[in-house]
Parts: sequence; C-alpha cells; structure tokens
Amino acid sequence: MRNIEDYVNELDHIVGKWCICQSCLVVDDDRGRSSVGSICPVCGATSEGSQMYFYMSVHTMIDLIREAYSSEHNIQNEGTDYEYQLNTHYISVLIYFCTLREILLYQLIHELCKSQKIPKGVYERLRSDNKLYIQKQNKLFPSLTGLKWNDALNVLSNESNNDYEKLNEKIMELVEYRNKFIHQGHKIFEIDSKVAEDCVKNTHLLIQLFVDLHNKYVHKEYLNK
Ligand SMILES: [Zn+2]
Repeated sequence: MRNIEDYVNELDHIVGKWCICQSCLVVDDDRGRSSVGSICPVCGATSEGSQMYFYMSVHTMIDLIREAYSSEHNIQNEGTDYEYQLNTHYISVLIYFCTLREILLYQLIHELCKSQKIPKGVYERLRSDNKLYIQKQNKLFPSLTGLKWNDALNVLSNESNNDYEKLNEKIMELVEYRNKFIHQGHKIFEIDSKVAEDCVKNTHLLIQLFVDLHNKYVHKEYLNK
C-alpha cells in the first residue's frame, strides 16, 4: 500500500507528462509528442513540438500543494508557556486543491468552447454569465456536452477503472471544509492532517479526470467531424 510520501512525491510527475496533439486534440502521455516531427498515432499529424496540455497555472498549483504539504508547522510564541502550533500549511493545501479544481474546470470549458468554435463574443458572455464554479459545472458543462456533470462522471467511471463518482463525493467534502473556513473562521482547527492528506491523495485522480473529460468531450468533437 502506498503511503502519503509516495503520493507527495508523485505530484512531481502528474501534470508535465500530459501532451496534446494540436491537430486531433487528443491528450495522452506519449512523450514523443514533444519532439518536433513526431507523428500522432491517432490522426497522423506531424508534431511541431512543445505540446504540453495543462495550463501553467495547473503546474503552479500542483507545486504549491506539494510545497505547502511538505512545510513545517507554524509555531506561535515559541519557547514560551503560550507556545502552540497552527495548521496553516494544511489550510494552504486545502485552498490550493480547491483552486486547482476551479482552474481545471475553467480550462476544460475553454477547450470545449474552442473546439466547438464558439465565437469569441459569445464565449466572453458565457464566461461573464457563469463566473461561479457551480454555474460552470451545472450550467455551462451540460450545455456544451449534452450531459449533466454527475452523468458524465458516471459514463467515465464505467469506461475506466477510476471511480470518479466517489472522487466527486470526496471533493464535495473537501470543498465544504474550504467553505466553512471562509464563512466560519473559527473552524480552522477542523482542517487537520487528514484533510490535507485527502487533498494530496486525490490530486492525481482529479488530474486524470480532467484528461478523460477532455478526451471524451473535446477530442471526441474532432473524431465526429
Ligand atoms: Zn492527433
């Protein structure tokens, strides 16, 4: 069984490996795609190199999660009778994890609109009408894919070995901790090592989910042409 250190170390490798074919838009971990002149095994297009899929902000959030999880406890009044520990690094991990989820959905919606050739003006209006994460998930995503979020997760879970519905339940639990932190500041001590560990352990699957969503609903557009 993998321990938490294995999950933390794994964070180094979970986003950089994903490349996209600029022609058929498939996303995979075929290292060859980054070499100029390589041939896409799906559509036969010639690669022009540097085809990293995830936005730099996704890479940054993963780095921040790792950095925050690995940092030391914040000790207040050190060496005095009033010394106590603050769990600020666990709170950082949680906030970064929830932000990562928001960036991933933002990127997916952007890629969906691009592949469906939605005019720039319409895209801008859709964005400004759906600023909240929940609007993007429950309104924009279904209108761009024809499936409700939970139904899409059900489809992907059945097509893979990954239980994305369970992942979604865990994420909702973690988002609830984040919301309580924002609205009820005194709840900070509920955000403990277990919450931070759950974030770290589920980051890999969260990334995999958005790769699968892309291939199912963005790459598929190309295949249907
Ligand atoms: Zn291709």
